[in-house]
Amino acid sequence: METGGSKTACALCVGALACLANCVQHTTPEHVERGGSTLPVEFCYADDVVPLLRTDLKYAGNDNFVGRPIAGYVGKRPILRRDAAMALQQAAAELRPLGYGLIIWDAYRPARAMSDFRAWSRTPDDSTRTSFYPRTTKQGIYASHYIGDISEHSWGVAVDISLYHLANGQLVDMGGRHDLLDPSSATDSTEVSPAQRANRHLLRDAMQRAGFENYPKEWWHYRLSNSRPWYSYDFCT
Ligand SMILES: [Zn+2]
Repeated sequence: METGGSKTACALCVGALACLANCVQHTTPEHVERGGSTLPVEFCYADDVVPLLRTDLKYAGNDNFVGRPIAGYVGKRPILRRDAAMALQQAAAELRPLGYGLIIWDAYRPARAMSDFRAWSRTPDDSTRTSFYPRTTKQGIYASHYIGDISEHSWGVAVDISLYHLANGQLVDMGGRHDLLDPSSATDSTEVSPAQRANRHLLRDAMQRAGFENYPKEWWHYRLSNSRPWYSYDFCT
């Protein structure tokens, strides 16, 4: 948070409190207090379960296709349903002896974030196009099913994920960034180099063995297979 800007700080504070107030409305006796936060009992913090998990929640900051923090992203820790977190632990255990760690860009996503995406799509702002959807339009990213009005992320069973080298902390070269909403982001795309495609497949194969399914149009997106019940949650992160 910026210093010396009390008005800005206050505005952020009010926003966060309003969000927390909304969250309280969604809590039930089955929610539990954990580390000062309230989560539904079937959820956990993924970094409590997955060793060496690196976190960079893109929608909590400005480095995303909207270009600002997204509604509902208050905290900075990745939240998942427990079964998804346990599966991710299995994938991490397989990758670690090979010299790789997992970095997570998105996990549980509040339903209100999907509404925020849709509201952004109706604005004329196209300032992120070059970096995130260079070959299509805002309407195109919905029509091409890169984004929808509901998401598996809101069920708590989906992750946006990549690999980093345990030896030096550098990200593995996948041939494109998170949320590059473009044909080159297809897991099997021939627009990237064979080495980059092999890296995508290394991640995919480990995730599949752990019980996840890849979305073929996005090499970074995975959903736990057999992950019912499908229910969109809307508590804040
Ligand atoms: Zn995703």
